[in-house]
Amino acid sequence: MKLEGIHHVTSITADAQANVDFYAGRLGLRLVKKTVNQDDPTVYHLFFGDDKGSPGLDLTFFEYPGARPGRAGQGMIHRLVMRVGSSAALDFWHGRVGGERREAGLLFSDPEGLGLELRKVETSDEPLTATHPDIPAEHAIQGFEEVRAFTSDPERSRALFEDAMKFEKDGGMSWVARGSRREGRYIFDPAPAERGVPGAGTVHHVAWASLDNEQLDWRDRVIEAGANPTPVIDRYWFKSVYFREPSGVLFEIATMGPGFAVDEDPKHLGERLILPPRFEHLRDQLEVTLTPIHAPAAARS
Ligand code: ZN
Repeated sequence: MKLEGIHHVTSITADAQANVDFYAGRLGLRLVKKTVNQDDPTVYHLFFGDDKGSPGLDLTFFEYPGARPGRAGQGMIHRLVMRVGSSAALDFWHGRVGGERREAGLLFSDPEGLGLELRKVETSDEPLTATHPDIPAEHAIQGFEEVRAFTSDPERSRALFEDAMKFEKDGGMSWVARGSRREGRYIFDPAPAERGVPGAGTVHHVAWASLDNEQLDWRDRVIEAGANPTPVIDRYWFKSVYFREPSGVLFEIATMGPGFAVDEDPKHLGERLILPPRFEHLRDQLEVTLTPIHAPAAARS
């Protein structure tokens, strides 16, 4: 039993339209689901990913309109690293989004300050890519590589990662969740002196991918390691269990299925507001109160 890398990462945006313009318009990801936060259905939950909405490249955002800008600190993820296939791809993205070009990577931020990195990675994992008219297919983003979090005490988390979650050690403050299909890394960096502030441009949680029939076993294992997980929550497109790892970062273990095509034609993912059945009775009200958002001009036709 192994976790299959990073399933999704959920962050906070104060501006759904600017968020769509950046992640779909600039980065060329596909908006695969436009729905509401199941814990607060008055606000959006947007999901961006590859053309199929696969676990492994899924950036999701809760919209809190007008939220104050946040800042990552102790116990918070501060950077999402995604794969590209070549140095030429890094050059292409440097021209498109700017940022700081390094030997094997490109560091930049989204418009709200969320730390992002594209990295040239050798991997046998299937590339998860989205089609976009302005982005040559060979330069497209290919999936998550790692998330980086701040902590002043990485040792507190070691037993949970290595004994319960079966992360492989990959250096002093670096671990790999290596499954049979995909892998993803979790890295600690030393925490800054300033306290973190949750808010726009910060990460809410990272989800690790579980085979559908193994999620309860993972839940039992993290309980044995001293974590305090929620019951299994049915998110409709996947099932979720949440707990905090000892540094303070919110973890989720999410099933790989059934996926985003369970309630939409795969050709038309993300085009209309999708509500899980238990919220459908709120549709009339939500369609007037949610901020209208439009696909970016350069997005797929
Ligand atoms: Zn989640």
